[in-house]
Amino acid sequence: MTWLLPRLLMALAAVGLGFVVGVLVRAASGSEALSLGLGVLAGVAALLLVDAVRGNRLLNWLRGNQLDSAPRDTGLWGELGYRVERAMRDRDRALARGRVELDQFLSAIEASPNGVLMLDRQEQIVWCNRAAADHFALDPRRDLQQRITNLVRAPAFVAYLQAGRYAEPLVLGTGRGPGTLSIIVREYGEGMRLVLSLDVTERVRAEAMRRDFVANVSHEIRTPLTVLSGFIETLQALPLTPVERDRMLLLMAQQTQRMQTLVADLLTLAQLEGSPRPAPDRWVALDSLLARVAADAEALSAGRHALRLRPATGVELAGIESELLSAVANLVTNAVRYTPDGGEVELTWRLLEDGSGELAIVDTGLGIAREHIPRLTERFYRVDGSRSRETGGTGLGLSIVKHVMQRHGGELMIQSEVGRGSRFRLVFPAARVRQSGDVALGDEAAFAASAAAQ
Ligand code: ADP
Repeated sequence: MTWLLPRLLMALAAVGLGFVVGVLVRAASGSEALSLGLGVLAGVAALLLVDAVRGNRLLNWLRGNQLDSAPRDTGLWGELGYRVERAMRDRDRALARGRVELDQFLSAIEASPNGVLMLDRQEQIVWCNRAAADHFALDPRRDLQQRITNLVRAPAFVAYLQAGRYAEPLVLGTGRGPGTLSIIVREYGEGMRLVLSLDVTERVRAEAMRRDFVANVSHEIRTPLTVLSGFIETLQALPLTPVERDRMLLLMAQQTQRMQTLVADLLTLAQLEGSPRPAPDRWVALDSLLARVAADAEALSAGRHALRLRPATGVELAGIESELLSAVANLVTNAVRYTPDGGEVELTWRLLEDGSGELAIVDTGLGIAREHIPRLTERFYRVDGSRSRETGGTGLGLSIVKHVMQRHGGELMIQSEVGRGSRFRLVFPAARVRQSGDVALGDEAAFAASAAAQ
């Protein structure tokens, strides 16, 4: 009620003005009625004029952009201006706060790896984040207010959206590369819909790989098992000569051996996947490792090939001995297995300029056609299935080699030409290679480093 007192004072001033005017008019004209009339008129006119000026000032401020403050008049108009201004500032502040919160909320959804897309009741896009735009190949600005079904025309998606049964997610191939999306729709508000999309390409691929792996393992085990059970039935049902029996037992032993090798390779792979990375300071002497590999290869070849597998490297490699042995042995036995009698297999070692080391196994064998090379390290991938099985292969060897090399920070490289032979190279990073003579140096350096640290 702060405006009341100034208002009363103003009314009092108007009365005073009217009185003065009345007195002056009476003195000039001597007419009572005229002086009264003009006095009242003057007082009311003065009041109206002040109101009109102040009201107009407030009105002008309201018509403008209200960036400056409202007119600071006293009394009713001043109070009115102040109240209106305060209400407007409060509303602006609330709006700005709402806008910041909305921006934060939208940025959070924007940052989500999942696609979020809002549709109105006409299936028009109200808003979508970048992930959704990417998943559905949309332009987040240009495609706003467009019907989603005009832009995403995959029949399965259109049918799913229009059927209105959203209990189960829709799994949709994106048509771009091998991508797969899982799509969920939720209804909200009045006829609005929220479309959530999740890129499940990797998950689908991993599931397919797992299924393939189980199918492959089952197939690999079923074949020798079928052979074994056939032999067992024959042994049970037919009277065989000792020679026939011995031959059958030999074949049975071969099949059992095949299953044992497969299980051993599977276990190796499982171990490689589940164990920590090899320590960088456990040194393995390469020459003695190569001697073991060479002895096995010589037994396998039984003099059918010219083998040169024992270079004197004087090198040590940092890693896990059993894994390194398995990698080199797999490559050398493959070279022997896939090289016809009379061929050559050579193993060489060289230090590269950057300090890394390269172990190469070169054969003059069957070779591999170019299109197979990128897939050789896939599990159970074989170029020539029958030769692989005949020679005791599981199809897992190169997959094991690749895993071992990855774990040691190295690389497996394959070059081959059909009919001319193959070169398999294992490249070890410099940090995992040292000359045997470096041992003392290495220890001294370590001692110096630890002394310096103390
Ligand atoms: P496998 O047990 O069948 O030998 P690997 O994973 O060791 O399985 O090798 C995959 C395939 O690569 C083999 O089946 C074979 O066809 C081919 N391969 C591997 N090494 C050689 C080689 N030295 N010469 C020719 N082909 C090879």
